[in-house]
Amino acid sequence: MHKVTLIPGDGIGPEITEAARQVIEATGVNIQWEIVEAGAEMIPRYGKPLPDHVLDSIRRNKVALKGPVTTPVGQGFRSVNVTLRQELDLYANLRPARTIPNIPSRYQGVDLLVVRENTEDLYAGVEHRVGKDAAESIKIITREASERIARFAFETARRQGRKKVTAVHKANIMKLTDGLFLESVRSVAEHYPQIAYEEVIVDAMCMKLVQEPENYDVLVLPNLYGDIVSDLCAGLVGGLGVAPGANIGLECAVFEAVHGSAPQIAGQNLANPLAIILSGVMMLRHLGENKYAAMIEDAVNGVLEEGKELTADLGGTATTRSMTEEIIKRIYENR
Ligand code: ATP
Ligand code: MG
Repeated sequence: MHKVTLIPGDGIGPEITEAARQVIEATGVNIQWEIVEAGAEMIPRYGKPLPDHVLDSIRRNKVALKGPVTTPVGQGFRSVNVTLRQELDLYANLRPARTIPNIPSRYQGVDLLVVRENTEDLYAGVEHRVGKDAAESIKIITREASERIARFAFETARRQGRKKVTAVHKANIMKLTDGLFLESVRSVAEHYPQIAYEEVIVDAMCMKLVQEPENYDVLVLPNLYGDIVSDLCAGLVGGLGVAPGANIGLECAVFEAVHGSAPQIAGQNLANPLAIILSGVMMLRHLGENKYAAMIEDAVNGVLEEGKELTADLGGTATTRSMTEEIIKRIYENR
């Protein structure tokens, strides 16, 4: 039996995490959920959007499935997502982008794995004003974090039988910071002679990805480029509604959709639950429950191939509930 922390989140979070929970339970996998809340509504009671008991729950269970959590603007709180990554040292952000059957998209044959460094770079939050009319943000790159993310990228590539790792950088301009990143990734690449290794400058990478995404396999990037390029990759294969993600550390792992809380469609039964459901599939694989992961994947592919129960973002008229129920029905049929 696995114990898993479930964070519903806000906006469309509660609807889609509920869908994911039901789909996962339909497989018969033995999971006990510990449901804990995070977000702006926690502030009056706990004085912060990410209460300590939420972190404790994840530390205890080691695995969490998380809905999107909005950062309250202008109240001086750090982003819940960034705090979670830093507190739990979830140093690797993993976002697969693979062509999905029957989803309208400009490309075919895309199978990318974006590995984003999750703890430093310009996200370290070392920012200050310099007088009235200037501001500075400090970009921090360390050999330790860069080698760690590189090892993660190459190990994942090896495990998944992938052929190539591409390090993405801007070392021609940021010679010291991105230079150190590249130096670190290169030193790790030497230990994986069976996996091809190349380096591409981030602007050129964006162009090449939209021209011929099928030429790339695993991408490893510092935090900020990783943020931008992983959204780009989600766009290559059907958009945010179907893009799953994982934040992985040495101790804990938090699985969540790439998208945010989409407040305009919250509570209306309109959100596409697939991104969080597919994040749940990644979670099951992480837990070693490959059989149950495959059951969900097959059911999702079946629903997409039939094309009847698709939410609006995929060009259909289905609701969150009707799409979820169709997936569950297919899981039961094949159990
Ligand atoms: P946040 O501030 O939490 O990021 P957001 O509105 O920017 O919230 P995003 O996830 O970044 O939310 O999504 C941008 C837009 O993409 C949303 O406004 C919505 O229209 C669409 N979108 C995102 N996720 C979904 C989903 N699961 N189903 C349907 N549409 C979605
Ligand atoms: Mg957003």
